[in-house]
Amino acid sequence: MSNLIKKDGYSYTFDASACSTCQARCCTGESGYIFVTKEEIKNISKLLDMKKDDFIKKYLFKEGFKHSIKERKVGESYECAFYNSESNGCSIYEARPLQCITFPFWDYFKNRVDELKLECPGVVDVK
Ligand code: SF4
Ligand code: SF4
Repeated sequence: MSNLIKKDGYSYTFDASACSTCQARCCTGESGYIFVTKEEIKNISKLLDMKKDDFIKKYLFKEGFKHSIKERKVGESYECAFYNSESNGCSIYEARPLQCITFPFWDYFKNRVDELKLECPGVVDVK
């Protein structure tokens, strides 16, 4: 069953039912930044029942003034430290960063729909 999501200002829709069969391409594949804000760091540490500093040390790295989630290298590919391949899901789903919640509706992709379609099979061009 499709579950089409639209957003003002975007020329594509997103069919969330595609996630169940796509093996989380947005959490795996090429290496990329998964930025977390201070508030998100607090929320994820709490969810994992970890001290904030321990969480930062174990799971994050600094990129300029921001923090990004570490990735694991799997063969020639990468995956987010919180991607669970057994359940094909996010192990911090309830506290996942806004960057993950808002995908695939990112400003960056507004004029790069073809690039986005290669990454996300749920994206449907409606132009
Ligand atoms: S790449 Fe797209 S279809 Fe696949 S899990 Fe991510 S959002 Fe869902
Ligand atoms: S935090 Fe969760 S949703 Fe975001 S990239 Fe990592 S596994 Fe995917």
